[in-house]
Amino acid sequence: MKSKKFYIKTFGCQMNEYDSNKISDLLKSISFEKIDKMDEADCFVFNTCHIREKATQKVYSDIGKIKKIYRNKPKPIFVLAGCVAQAESSIVFEKSDYVDIVVGPQAYHKLPELIEQFIAKKKKQVDTNLSVDDKFDTLQHLNSKGSKVSSFVTIQEGCDKFCKFCVVPYTRGPEYSRDSRNIIDEIKALADNGTKEIVLLGQNVSSYNDSNISLAKLIKKIANLKEIKRIRFTTSHPNDFDDELISLYSEEPKLMPQLHLPVQSGSDKILKLMNRNHTRVDYLNLINKFRFHRPDIQFSSDFIVGYPGEKDSDHQDTINLIKEVGFSLSYSFIYSQRPGTPASNYDEIPRKTTMKRLEELQSILLKQQLEFNHYMINKENNVLFENKTQDEEQFFGRNQYMVPVFVKNNLIKAGEIKKIFIQNASRNNLFGKLA
Ligand code: SF4
Repeated sequence: MKSKKFYIKTFGCQMNEYDSNKISDLLKSISFEKIDKMDEADCFVFNTCHIREKATQKVYSDIGKIKKIYRNKPKPIFVLAGCVAQAESSIVFEKSDYVDIVVGPQAYHKLPELIEQFIAKKKKQVDTNLSVDDKFDTLQHLNSKGSKVSSFVTIQEGCDKFCKFCVVPYTRGPEYSRDSRNIIDEIKALADNGTKEIVLLGQNVSSYNDSNISLAKLIKKIANLKEIKRIRFTTSHPNDFDDELISLYSEEPKLMPQLHLPVQSGSDKILKLMNRNHTRVDYLNLINKFRFHRPDIQFSSDFIVGYPGEKDSDHQDTINLIKEVGFSLSYSFIYSQRPGTPASNYDEIPRKTTMKRLEELQSILLKQQLEFNHYMINKENNVLFENKTQDEEQFFGRNQYMVPVFVKNNLIKAGEIKKIFIQNASRNNLFGKLA
């Protein structure tokens, strides 16, 4: 029998990238073949993101494009997975009759079954169950064939924080921590396959707790694996760091000195309106604690500009916090309503005002990023090399602060950590030679 071909498109965050890899492994386990050409698929999977209203609109407009491509060809089975699927469930079928299967982020392990049922019954299928219990058990038995120097591993899902602008508690459900033994098994298999760096993923990784195995304890277990040289984790909430985790930065050299620590705003009033449950001083104190234990640690953050109720003075508080901390990397967005969240009912700030604030904030953040990269010039960085660039001319890796580093050298191999003398820097990249 001719094997079926599938094409998968991922929208949004690293969690979705991880999920898409797992969905690919699941489809391969039922003899589907993954392809890169959009116009030859028997099955399409969109793994979607619901973080902003615009992201949802993009999903539906992209479904329209696929429909056009296949106008004169047999229609592929169309699977809508991820957070839009979770949030809209069977409403998806009303918005687009092109979709055949709707599956949420906690139910995609049932995709082979759903596809089988769809083929057998020719009836649309939907599964948006939020119970995560058997998901990781099923995924545990899948073997990923792809070899990667740096690999994501999901350790936690969902969130109980209920920030007023965020859809995650509704689309990913309550906090769930994976069994630590299964995580270690998955990492051992990845290490056997060439992985040197592990990036632990979750919507709120710092809340990880599996039968009293905290994130700090889990990191120590991973650090004991000889083949794993680097450990990172993302994303965290500032309220969930205990002393054991903070002091690990001075004790565990495999834990990289770069931390994504979203603050969203520097104004106490806005933090309260957002239900973040911490103040700007709490955040600054936390930054200082990390710096005490690891003086070279670098921070990245997320900022929401123009949250309902934000005045010029609140915006100025955010600017001041940015100047006080100094971020090596940041993500900033104008506030946009996420349907279903409490903040979606609040009055929005005029676009002209928010645009002006965003420009000011981003110019400072980008300047900090450039200054940080320039600071690396004439210094030696430890770089973990991942692969050659497409033109085969350079090798690409990342330094300890996660900044991409490019080196012209034919002797470097993927998976090696080399000392690189940094000669030049741009806003996003560093360039150097073997030290
Ligand atoms: S902590 Fe993060 S994931 Fe959880 S509700 Fe707040 S923004 Fe969303």
